[in-house]
Amino acid sequence: MPLDRTRDVKKVPFVELYEGRLQGVVSSGSDIERVYVAYFEANSLNFCCSTNNNRPCGGLRGAPCKHLRELLNEAVIQFGIEDVTHFLRLHDQTIHSTNDILKHSGQQVNVYGSEIFSRFLSDLQLLELPQTSLPISPMMWFTE
Ligand SMILES: [Zn+2]
Repeated sequence: MPLDRTRDVKKVPFVELYEGRLQGVVSSGSDIERVYVAYFEANSLNFCCSTNNNRPCGGLRGAPCKHLRELLNEAVIQFGIEDVTHFLRLHDQTIHSTNDILKHSGQQVNVYGSEIFSRFLSDLQLLELPQTSLPISPMMWFTE
């Protein structure tokens, strides 16, 4: 199934395949101030979702919540289904969609990924750098 949708960065501002986890930041559907940090572990596909303030996601009841599903969807759009299944170490040849991946979901774990949110923030800072016209502090020495 070819996906020609583009990434929805409003819904899922940050997604990455990093150190054995498919992880990222997902906006709350209802509260603009709130975001969720969520991840799936490679191999086990154990999963977790919590707010950026380390509160448990109310949608997690032993199965991946809508944030985890959105995260997975966006990962597949960004990296492609083959890279995502390869990264998660799924060797099932019949995986063609995020729903197929979700059939392999593991257990809910309660190890919150607060460092994911920090990675998101530093990623944002890097993105914002080229847009500023103010001197970047390490460069100040040259301008004075
Ligand atoms: Zn959630």
